[in-house]
Amino acid sequence: MALVEIKSLKKYYDTPGGILHAVDDVTLNIEKGKTLGVVGESGCGKSTLGKTLIKMTEATSGEVYFDGQEITSMNQRQFKQMRMRMQMVFQDPYASLDPRMSVSALIAEPINTYHLAKNRNELNEMVLSLMDTVGLARRLANVYPHELDGGRRQRIGIARALSLSPEFIVCDEPVSALDVSIQAQILNLLMDLQEEKGLTYIFITHDMSVVKHISDEICVMYLGQVVEKCESKELFKNTLHPYSKALLSAIPVPSIHNKKERILIKGEITSPIDPEPCCRFAQRCQYAKEECFKSEPALKPYKGTGHLVKCHRVEEIN
Ligand code: SF4
Repeated sequence: MALVEIKSLKKYYDTPGGILHAVDDVTLNIEKGKTLGVVGESGCGKSTLGKTLIKMTEATSGEVYFDGQEITSMNQRQFKQMRMRMQMVFQDPYASLDPRMSVSALIAEPINTYHLAKNRNELNEMVLSLMDTVGLARRLANVYPHELDGGRRQRIGIARALSLSPEFIVCDEPVSALDVSIQAQILNLLMDLQEEKGLTYIFITHDMSVVKHISDEICVMYLGQVVEKCESKELFKNTLHPYSKALLSAIPVPSIHNKKERILIKGEITSPIDPEPCCRFAQRCQYAKEECFKSEPALKPYKGTGHLVKCHRVEEIN
């Protein structure tokens, strides 16, 4: 069952040069208790998609249904209770935490905002319990973010997100700023929490090896659009879109005997400002033909399967 249904979601920005299509007609479902990975280069619109679908920024058009209720048209008052059910974990835990607040004050802040604790004792208990849940030692309750390493700071961010008992969390590059060994700890924590609490995630990243580790389904974004979507295993076994193939080829292989050829994407990236009605990857695609510059391909099932791909020539090149 889908917890989140996104229908034709668009987020455009008016710029001096024209209309920037940051998220352009995205339709997706996120199943309850599952993780949808969203991958793509910087600037492909994946973070804007995450923020737009939980109304941190207003959509230009389209609909988002959360547990059956349409939320894009809700005003802030109507949305306030719904907001508790959907939270966000940010990329840079240091930038997203107020450096003047201690760990306990940071975790207590959302609980106070929503008046969830009856008294001071209950608040302290809730904070300590959240610290236990995310693996932060209780002795750190009174220290400040600058005294902690990146992994512990991200644990504070996760504790803040969990403090309102959400069902859905947008994880926006939550491990990109961390060392590799710490990345694994945070990914494992997120997966354990998902299992324990039945959480649903959208996991946004530019790192294919990270997304492989955590996602049930993956969608690949290019210039504001979804170009491929399928189950995680299927994407790594049967990559169809030329852009996804190039992204996957960049994953390092831990063997000197199994050398993988990296596909380098050449050519200029198309402008997301007033884009032409054609394939947005055409300028950089080694398979591009005339038709690719003349019309935009639809995102459609490949050979009747649940594997969706947006490419005119998918059958010829696979
Ligand atoms: Fe390449 Fe054409 Fe497919 Fe676009 S539609 S990805 S240009 S082959």
